[in-house]
Amino acid sequence: MKLGSRIAVRMRCMRTRRILQNYCDAELDDASTNRVAAHIEECRRCGLEVSVYKDIKRSLQTKSKQVNPDALERLRILAEQLANVAKADGFDYDD
Ligand SMILES: [Zn+2]
Repeated sequence: MKLGSRIAVRMRCMRTRRILQNYCDAELDDASTNRVAAHIEECRRCGLEVSVYKDIKRSLQTKSKQVNPDALERLRILAEQLANVAKADGFDYDD
């Protein structure tokens, strides 16, 4: 990939991540929703964040008396993987 387009993708990532939760909560207007949807189609990292967020949301909404420990463990591992990918990539996820 050319350097220019890599930077362009990262700019899109940063912009997307800022509104990712609003996207998952269906709080965005149509234009933004479409932009985010298009981005997570081509961006594994942001797509992963969406699936983690939706998993968390689902488990919160399920309000089952007991939380499934397997699901929690899966989430924890996924979050760790995300953090490692971000680190390996020199990406600052603490903004
Ligand atoms: Zn992205």
